[in-house]
Amino acid sequence: MCGIVGYVGKREAYPILIKGLHRLEYRGYDSAGVAVVSSGGSLNVYKCRGKVCDLENYTKDKDVSGTVGIGHTRWATHGEPNDVNAHPHYSESKNIALIHNGIIENYAVLKDALIENGYTFQSCTDTEVLVQLIEYIKSTTGVSLFEAVQAALKRVVGAYAIAVIEKGNYDEIIAARKSSPLVVGVGDGEFFLASDATPIVEYTDKVVYINDGEMARINRHKPLKVVTLDNQEAEIGIEKLEMSISQLEKGGYPHFMLKEIHEQPRTIVDCIRGRVTPDGENVVLSGVLANKEKFLNARRIIFVACGTSWHAALIGEHLIEDMCRIPVEVEYASEFRYRNPVIYPDDVVIAVSQSGETADTLAAVEVAKQNGAFIFGICNVVGSSIARATDSGAYIHVGPEIGVASTKAFTGQVTVMAMVAMTLAKEKGIMSQDEFREVAKGLQALPSLVSQALKLDEQILDLSKMFTYAHNFIYLGRGYNYPAALEGALKLKEISYIHAEGYPAAEMKHGPIALIDSEMPVVVLATANNIYDKTVSNIQEIKARGGRIIAVVSENDTRVKDIADYCITVPAAPECLMPVVVSVPLQLLAYYIAVHKGRDVDQPRNLAKSVTVE
Ligand code: GLU
Repeated sequence: MCGIVGYVGKREAYPILIKGLHRLEYRGYDSAGVAVVSSGGSLNVYKCRGKVCDLENYTKDKDVSGTVGIGHTRWATHGEPNDVNAHPHYSESKNIALIHNGIIENYAVLKDALIENGYTFQSCTDTEVLVQLIEYIKSTTGVSLFEAVQAALKRVVGAYAIAVIEKGNYDEIIAARKSSPLVVGVGDGEFFLASDATPIVEYTDKVVYINDGEMARINRHKPLKVVTLDNQEAEIGIEKLEMSISQLEKGGYPHFMLKEIHEQPRTIVDCIRGRVTPDGENVVLSGVLANKEKFLNARRIIFVACGTSWHAALIGEHLIEDMCRIPVEVEYASEFRYRNPVIYPDDVVIAVSQSGETADTLAAVEVAKQNGAFIFGICNVVGSSIARATDSGAYIHVGPEIGVASTKAFTGQVTVMAMVAMTLAKEKGIMSQDEFREVAKGLQALPSLVSQALKLDEQILDLSKMFTYAHNFIYLGRGYNYPAALEGALKLKEISYIHAEGYPAAEMKHGPIALIDSEMPVVVLATANNIYDKTVSNIQEIKARGGRIIAVVSENDTRVKDIADYCITVPAAPECLMPVVVSVPLQLLAYYIAVHKGRDVDQPRNLAKSVTVE
């Protein structure tokens, strides 16, 4: 994961690098560092364990001057998070510095060979081998830094986005990527480099997305040069950024997560805008319609996703099977790619990823591609790797999500999946217009239903205080509410570090009910639907064993209110859209429990937002 930034131009690099690292901190935050070429030509590296603010403290009395530099915020894969393993890494002579996002899989063999040639290693990272290899090639062959990087990358197996600078070179950064993201911002006589566009947006709206297998020479006096590792000149497509700085700030909220939870009424409006017709008679998702034959003739639809996106995909399965009668499977991308899956050329594979950079999902897309399937992407980040690797897709348009625990992206994904299902159902002609209109009107009402659910904020703030003692939680739901229960449990785990399990409510009696005692909080999604009575029986079974029941119920509920210890009442929506509505109190519950426990909500331990390593 980790975030990388770079700057070359006429301004001081350090403040730009630090600001950029703060923006990218969601990607990793166990250590951070910068390297700057000073006006005297020296190459200075400063790095330390901890967050970007620790780096700022550390560099207070250091010479950070210079107009070319690179910076890194790390999520360790190889070697514990400490000062030495932090990036940038120096080469043996300290003439070259490098930052890296990804994993060098064959680092051990390369390291042995370099040690034989007299190189010494300071860190336990896989990364250091690359900067040493670059220096070895450069010093033994006399080629330029650019050529040395190119030659070194040809010997590397794994994933990388890298940026390299050199002592005495005030003008240039060399960068390259394979399976990890990299964007170049093009300014006037200056360039910016980053893992995503967020550090770039306040300086320029012109960006170039570097493609897999490409490397860039970023020289302040020359046009940007992008080539493949075989030196084939690549086309440079300058794209315009559609992002504002205010989207990247907390806007008065104490945490990004709370801001993002409260943004959901607006993000759902943005998600359905121009897609659901105002009269509710039609849903137009152009990425589906342009390829409708692929979908309608599909043998099956296979979702590939990880984490929260995988939960959204489980809801997608219900939606598409319910409305379109097309068989759907949902796969963990990380398992799918390695288990020799059966994929037919007439399958449609839907890849779901907020960042569009999830390494496992991207790899699953490649596997599906090799087998000839049609690939559709559901992503948030425009121009991301998955968005570009897929044949077609639909963006969720929820704006940058910075809190590590996904909230608005989840509800955006479910909303898009509902629209995919409706578009197909309409084309297939198997849904009555009345049913169709009901769901379409439900989609239009979602922003206001979510607003109503957000009014629960204070009730949940109070309720959450009572559960900070808990070491375990169970979340239950049935039908559409089952994946919502899984997602509720994941939110709690991620940010409060309380162990939580999601189950289909009726599965309890097949084992997990043994866990129930008077200490065990059980969150049950018991909104009105055709299995409401069955869910009530499941709640009785838990009550009979002393569990503490927190029930999420519909406005007109009567029965659960009498059994549950605490009730959270949410407004009604069509059943297939209820996961969006019930998610709001579950997000708030996880958030406030974590806050009461003093957790670092936006940057929980051991996690990073976009998982760009396997
Ligand atoms: N593999 C490198 C390390 O452990 C980079 C990790 C990353 O991409 O976050 O330092």
